[in-house]
Amino acid sequence: MRDVAVVGAGLAGLTAAYRLAQAGLKPQVFERYPVPGGLARVIEVGGEPLEVFYHHLFTNDTAITALADELGLGDDIEWLPSKMGIWTGGQLWDFATPASLLRFRPLSWPAKIRFVIGTLRLQHSQDPTPFENVTAAQWIQDHLGSEVWRTVWAPLLNQKFAEMSEEVAMVWLWRKIWLRGRSRSSSGMGERLGYMRGSFARVAEGLADAIRSMGGSLHLADPVKRIDSSEGGGFEIVTTAGAVRADTVLAAIPVPDYLKIAGHIIPPEEQERLGSLRATGALCTLLELNQSFMSYYWLNIADETMPFGGLIEHTNYIDRSRYDGTYLLYISNYLFPDHPLFGAGKQEVLDTYLPSLKRINPAFNTSWIQRSHHFRADYAQPVVTRGYRQQIPSMRTPMDNLYLCTMAQIYPEDRGQNYAVEYGERVAKVMLEDHHAG
Ligand SMILES: Cc1cc2nc3c(=O)[nH]c(=O)nc-3n(C[C@H](O)[C@H](O)[C@H](O)COP(=O)(O)OP(=O)(O)OC[C@H]3O[C@@H](n4cnc5c(N)ncnc54)[C@H](O)[C@@H]3O)c2cc1C
Repeated sequence: MRDVAVVGAGLAGLTAAYRLAQAGLKPQVFERYPVPGGLARVIEVGGEPLEVFYHHLFTNDTAITALADELGLGDDIEWLPSKMGIWTGGQLWDFATPASLLRFRPLSWPAKIRFVIGTLRLQHSQDPTPFENVTAAQWIQDHLGSEVWRTVWAPLLNQKFAEMSEEVAMVWLWRKIWLRGRSRSSSGMGERLGYMRGSFARVAEGLADAIRSMGGSLHLADPVKRIDSSEGGGFEIVTTAGAVRADTVLAAIPVPDYLKIAGHIIPPEEQERLGSLRATGALCTLLELNQSFMSYYWLNIADETMPFGGLIEHTNYIDRSRYDGTYLLYISNYLFPDHPLFGAGKQEVLDTYLPSLKRINPAFNTSWIQRSHHFRADYAQPVVTRGYRQQIPSMRTPMDNLYLCTMAQIYPEDRGQNYAVEYGERVAKVMLEDHHAG
């Protein structure tokens, strides 16, 4: 492994390249965007970098906090209180603490009791096996009842998985509840979430600087069009800027992007297997406001009549003085890319959302909006279905010296920056093991 190319400068690709560089290699990283960071990339708002998609950490996100420590950034992660709510039945409700559950009228008392007992049971189950071959819809209705499913979980899963929400395996929800339970304070009275002072782009930039300082390189705004296998072994990486030879390639990109650039060199059955994996895309509108929209940091929208799934008022978590006094509201919407709204322009999306924003806060009007931004990711949330363990793509592809590290491999945890780092480290380890064995 002399010439290593890494496609994708998201956190997974950068972490892998960093570990490979530490092992003495000089990876060349190719990224289609002009900045590193992938889904955690930033724009500037009020002179401060801000993620295009809202981001925070949980206290058990240990891989990324350890990496931040290593890069000298650990002390810049702030653990701040957050306030969560839920919109359901045309009303706002606090929804984060045991006391707020007591006041949550959309659930009857018997359903509340089943909800609490069921959640505690899930938080104490260690073994994923019983949850792997059953859908969350089935398991929740069987064990917690249809009221809990209908009122709480169905709308929340619908938010992330759209029309595939009823196919999501229970193992995904179990792991989310399991990890979240451990991330909350021991009293259960609220949750502190982690944010990197100056944005999470600092992790990506820290990795990029470290890779360069060890002799590696980053080719930004240089999308890879094709990975061809060369006669006599190795690969040719064809980018918009030219072609580069590499004896080893890591594709640290979403599955559909991998199929686009490498589909022609992988066996048809592998193409078919990867092609059957599904993921929702993310549509995210960021509003710069001159006043606060709500009192929550995070508002889940458990109401299928609303055209979006969540509202995140970032400046109810991070002080707005950092953004020159601007209030920042993200409107989150996970959709499959063939949904008509997914391809719509910024104004059309905003016009679709405005009446629903007014339902939540009747005082809200467009004069509050100073600026708006519109971001889209075709591949944002892999759909973990029953029996997913058997479908997880391998990091070692059927092609010698071609490796894959992608969100669809993360299991049973939900994808997130922490797991991009963890899996980036894993793939680098696999590549180095093969190198030393070969
Ligand atoms: C709406 C939203 C909210 C989120 N919130 C959180 C959160 O609160 N906390 C959290 O921890 N995580 C959150 N995440 C998830 C987190 O951002 C991702 O899990 C993580 O950043 C994924 O990193 P990655 O490197 O695996 O993939 P990506 O970030 O997708 O990186 C892949 C990179 O490959 C590049 N690429 C693709 N094809 C090519 C090509 N042909 N040539 C060159 N480059 C290419 C892409 O441009 C991209 O930069 C959120 C994600 C979304 C969408």
